[in-house]
Amino acid sequence: MQETPHIAIIPTPGMGHLIPLIELATRLTRLNFTITILILNDGSPPSKSQLTLLQNLPPSISYTHVSPIDVSDLHSDCAIETRMTLTITRSIPGIRDSLRALSKETRLVSVIVDLLGSSIIHLAREFGALSYIFFLSSALGLCCLYSLPKLDKIHSCEYRDLSEPVQFVPGLVPVHGADFPDPVQNRKSEIYHFFLSMIECYSEATGILINSFYDLEPVAFDYLMNDRGREDNVPPVYPIGPVIRTGSEDGLIDGSGCIKWLDEQPSDSVLFVSFGSGGNLSHEQVIELAIGLELSGQRFLWVLKTPNNKSNASFFGDTNNIDNPLEYLPQGFLDRTKGLGFVVPNWAPQVQILSHGSTGGFLTHCGWNSTLESIVHGVPLIAWPLYAEQKLNSVLVADDLNVALRVKPNDKGLIDREKIAEYAKCLMQGKIQREKMRALKHAAVATLGEDGSSKQSLAKVAEEMKNHKSIQE
Ligand code: UDP
Repeated sequence: MQETPHIAIIPTPGMGHLIPLIELATRLTRLNFTITILILNDGSPPSKSQLTLLQNLPPSISYTHVSPIDVSDLHSDCAIETRMTLTITRSIPGIRDSLRALSKETRLVSVIVDLLGSSIIHLAREFGALSYIFFLSSALGLCCLYSLPKLDKIHSCEYRDLSEPVQFVPGLVPVHGADFPDPVQNRKSEIYHFFLSMIECYSEATGILINSFYDLEPVAFDYLMNDRGREDNVPPVYPIGPVIRTGSEDGLIDGSGCIKWLDEQPSDSVLFVSFGSGGNLSHEQVIELAIGLELSGQRFLWVLKTPNNKSNASFFGDTNNIDNPLEYLPQGFLDRTKGLGFVVPNWAPQVQILSHGSTGGFLTHCGWNSTLESIVHGVPLIAWPLYAEQKLNSVLVADDLNVALRVKPNDKGLIDREKIAEYAKCLMQGKIQREKMRALKHAAVATLGEDGSSKQSLAKVAEEMKNHKSIQE
């Protein structure tokens, strides 16, 4: 049996989960662990970008597929979180088999799940391992979840109908109910009740690692890490972020030539436009965005997916590969914006783009990874949230940190072309958000430096795992 301490990492489906968990795995291997990533399989084929990531893992990280499960009974428009949580619960027998095999072959000291993996925390105990949740969102998001049981008792209406914004913790930015995460927007739904019970399961974990850092969210961390957090049964919390991909070494290469195009643009001049791995706009909205970008006169680099009326249509895979998204652009748009803009279909190397000196702004759906990647590279934002907890992330970056302009939809729910042009000009020509973002970039670098708080937090967790006696010892 291997002597090196071994960790099993179990991501729930979606690139936004897989990417930071692989990055965490990479950091842990530098602290002398070996890792196995357990890939859940709900029958849908893995996306090209997912396969590329898995095929480029460093040697001390391996992956194994958990036995496939069937989710064909689910309605096609069920919430993504419902599909994810069911994928996990139905995979429990397969996960147990994989952990059993790992505990025979390795010195299994710990199991790490992500924020939706609460229903498998107990499996770690069965194999004598420690269990950690990697919370792939903000500390504000975790405070929101811990407030839910209390809010649920006090209020009977939907949260979006509350007349006043809520402060999850005194001193924290106030949040309107309409900006709470999607899964808690319908209090009669199954997923709402799952979220309520999720918090109870969290307290069984050895600890919660958060993909954020103390200086970004001091008020939230002060609550989560101090006695009041303990009163609410919050297990030990470790801010270990920003855990983001660092470049192109994972094989997500620049097939479109957009980096070469960026090389030819003036510094800080390009607005990067992308809605993450899963976000889609309607065709009508794609047209407004195209014309808005054109009207703004700003340089832009746009990752365009095939329009879809469901804002998270691409979440579970490459629905895009079947279609050419460029066909949905307004007539003559590509010719009129030639030289000023560059459109990439489906997927682009986002971290390379954000780290490029020509990129001066990011119009984003505010997925948490995209938000952190922007902070690390000091790129100010236009916040255009679509689903999941993206509205909450927008509150943090726009209202609290003041590094983003947040878009406002019109009566039809559309962001119109004139407004888009205005946001683009304002962000690219303004100073406030840019300067604040630069300060955050320095804080992000410092926290991961030698004496930085996030680096020390991860070292502490690593020590705890190494000192743990596995079942065979
Ligand atoms: N990403 C990328 N290229 C793309 C779209 C997304 O590299 O064209 C990466 C992005 O850098 C981030 C992740 O995919 O690491 C998306 O995660 P996020 O949490 O921002 O959003 P999600 O896709 O989960 O909604």
